Amino acid sequence: VTVIGEEFLNFQEMRFQKLSCASEERTWILGNAYTFIEVPKLTVRTSEDKTSVKVEAKVLQTEEIIEINGDLLVAADGCLSSIRKTFLPDLKLRYSGCCAWRGVLDFSGNGNSESILGIQRPYPDPRKCLYFDLNTGRITGLYELLNKRLNWIWYVHQHEPGQKVSSDMIENMYQEAESLGPELVRVTRETKEPFINIIYDSDPLELIFWDNVVLIGDASHPTTPHRVRSTNISTLDAAVLGKCIEKLGAENIPSALEEYQHIRLTVTAKQVLHSQRVGQIKQGLALPDSKLFDPTAASAEESEELQRIHLPFFASAPLSVD
Ligand SMILES: Cc1cc2nc3c(=O)[nH]c(=O)nc-3n(C[C@H](O)[C@H](O)[C@H](O)COP(=O)(O)OP(=O)(O)OC[C@H]3O[C@@H](n4cnc5c(N)ncnc54)[C@H](O)[C@@H]3O)c2cc1C
Repeated sequence: VTVIGEEFLNFQEMRFQKLSCASEERTWILGNAYTFIEVPKLTVRTSEDKTSVKVEAKVLQTEEIIEINGDLLVAADGCLSSIRKTFLPDLKLRYSGCCAWRGVLDFSGNGNSESILGIQRPYPDPRKCLYFDLNTGRITGLYELLNKRLNWIWYVHQHEPGQKVSSDMIENMYQEAESLGPELVRVTRETKEPFINIIYDSDPLELIFWDNVVLIGDASHPTTPHRVRSTNISTLDAAVLGKCIEKLGAENIPSALEEYQHIRLTVTAKQVLHSQRVGQIKQGLALPDSKLFDPTAASAEESEELQRIHLPFFASAPLSVD
């Protein structure tokens, strides 16, 4: 079922490919210039005058534990953020009822394999299209990445699994994938190391900074991916934070964080709730004010709510309070 107009979809896909390309380059640069760290058990300590913050971190290359001192800690540690947990220990994430099995099939040097030729029958142009199928309440997505890699994603409605993927879970996934059709089954089976994302969101947060520790990205607004937009939302957090600090000056971090929080919470709270609603419709879950969505029978009006353009602040979101 095509939920969103073709022209629009092509536009989105082009942007995504550019983003993938940029991030690959970036990883390479990071690998050469930066130290990768893990924050194993978080201890954030703010100085008494609130002007500096200390974090203990493990250097992944050497396993050494180091202490990092800074003026500001920008926590971009994702949906399960441990930094957020230290400030909001009681915040409960909501399991959306859905997980995503994902994988990337590398077909460089093997473009004429049965699975690659086969997948192009139902999905003829994965290079230019991001295909989404709503199939009996299950959503699959497919698109080609640079360097002959086929990216697939399969949303599955199930009880909340554990965080670690076992070989039994993978075998179950293969068996359940039989319902997706032979072409997709072949692709999933030939993919090395498929992995699972357990999808959570939470009610919008009321605070996203404490002294000189600030949350950005999914850490500050855990959200379901049903609007295919959360990376942009996270990127905009960073842009707004930068602009606030630029405007108010590095010597006025508290005011800059206050302004950042005000600008972003106004936007992201609405976006998170909208994504949650659209997710529930797409997952075929009941909502008090709408009937169950059936992609095979939905009218144009019923499908309209699912269009990305209806995401609050889709076309523009404020970058400053002015
Ligand atoms: C199934 C699925 C599909 C999605 N599809 C889309 C889509 O189509 N379009 C879109 O825009 N968005 C999509 N998203 C959302 C997108 O992936 C996120 O919004 C985005 O990655 C958030 O970026 P982030 O930097 O805030 O967090 P993340 O990308 O989660 O990055 C957090 C990073 O912090 C690191 N980290 C965490 N804890 C520690 C620690 N203790 N020490 C050191 N490092 C740590 C993690 O390893 C990770 O690298 C999807 C998400 C999911 C789950």
